[in-house]
This record gives sequence, C-alpha cells and structure tokens, in this order.
Amino acid sequence: MMDRDDLQAVYKNIRTELGPGVKLVAVSKTKPVEAIRELYGLGQRDFGENYVQELVDKQPQLPDDIHWHFIGHLQSNKVKYIASFVHLIHGVDSLRLLQEIEKQAARHHRCIGCLLQVHIAREETKFGLDAAELDELMRTVRNEPHAFKHIRLRGLMGMASFTDDEAKVREEFKGLKTLFDTYFGQAEASPDQHFYLSMGMSGDYKIAIREGSSMVRIGSLLFGRRGD
Ligand SMILES: *Cc1c(COP(=O)(O)O)cnc(C)c1O
Repeated sequence: MMDRDDLQAVYKNIRTELGPGVKLVAVSKTKPVEAIRELYGLGQRDFGENYVQELVDKQPQLPDDIHWHFIGHLQSNKVKYIASFVHLIHGVDSLRLLQEIEKQAARHHRCIGCLLQVHIAREETKFGLDAAELDELMRTVRNEPHAFKHIRLRGLMGMASFTDDEAKVREEFKGLKTLFDTYFGQAEASPDQHFYLSMGMSGDYKIAIREGSSMVRIGSLLFGRRGD
C-alpha cells in the first residue's frame, strides 16, 4: 500500500493530467474500504467495482454521495443486487442484460445509466459487442423508447489489447471513438446527462485521452498493485 502523501501526490498528478474534460473512475476492486475512504477524503466521488458481492458489501460502509460504477461483466441474475444504488453500468453487452436492468431500475423507480461495451481488442477474447451487434442494440433502444424508460444509454466502453504495442492500442481506441461519434456525436445530451466514452486504464489511459476518451478507469496506479 502507498502511504498517504504518495496517494495524494499520485491523485493530484492524474487529475491534472486528465483536466476538467475527462472523468476519473477510481477502480477499487479488491481494495479495502479504508483505501476508498482515503481517496474520498481527497475529493474523489466516482469509484468502480467489478464484482457484485464485493460492491454490495462495501457500498453501505461508505458515504452515500459516492457514484458507484459497475465495470465488470454483469450477469443478468445479479442486477437486482445493485439496482437500488448503482450510478453507471459500463459493461452492458446484450439486450437481455439491458432488459433486466430496465426491469430492476423500474422496481426501484430509478433511471440507471448504461454504457454499451464494445469488443475492440483484436488479440484477446474480451467481452463486448461487435459493430453489427452494437448497431442492432442501439436501434432497438432508440426505436422502442417506451420499453426502456428506466435506463439511459450514456455512451460506450471498451478495453484495448493488453500489449506494449502502442500503435495497436491507439488503433483500437480510434475505432471505438469513431463508433462513439457515430452513435452519440449527434445525440442531444441534457445538461446534467453527458455522454461518455469510457476507455483507458492505468497502463493505457494516456493514449486513451489523446484518442478522445472522456472517462478513464484507473485502479492500480492509484491503489497499488492487486493480487489478480
Ligand atoms: C480492473 C479494471 C480496470 C482498472 O485496471 P488498472 O490496470 O488497475 O487501472 C479498468 N477497467 C476494467 C474493466 C477493469 O476490470
């Protein structure tokens, strides 16, 4: 673990690098609530978790004004555990999952923000939609707004290949930005509901922001390495 001064310095550096236009989601998976509290004390309000059970355990122990981002692969049968409080679900990759989020959000009289996950890493098998599937899902939601009153599509999310090949990572991010512009570039965002392109992690966020990311998900750089 880092000591307090280190965390403060790293946090300030990252915030400065990102500037006002890029939202920082601090990825706290596997890290204790004390670590989250420390970063909260420095002003951070957006935190990301990957595992439903872990998020459900942590959320009641922490301040209410935290915006919780679910960034992992979400199974439909687990949406109900986080629907009462989750702020933004990043990894939506099927109509079935979207319908379940709609149903659970309605039960809680909420509107839940969703990002559709696009498969951009050519090298590895990661979750996400391909371009044709994305197109179909976008059409379905936009053609049937009455069926999706309790979700709001707020943008796209993607993970680049895990590689030292910067050119490849840049290409993958560029492709995602193009899709984002296609589907969200013209859409009307209400002032309090911006659209987001969620791309970039500890190892590749600098490339991601150069390629137009507006939301980065940073874990190990802030909280130290994980055991995973
Ligand atoms: C773990 C994780 C991150 C953060 O990864 P770091 O390399 O620790 O910054 C970001 N996004 C997703 C989807 C993750 O699973």
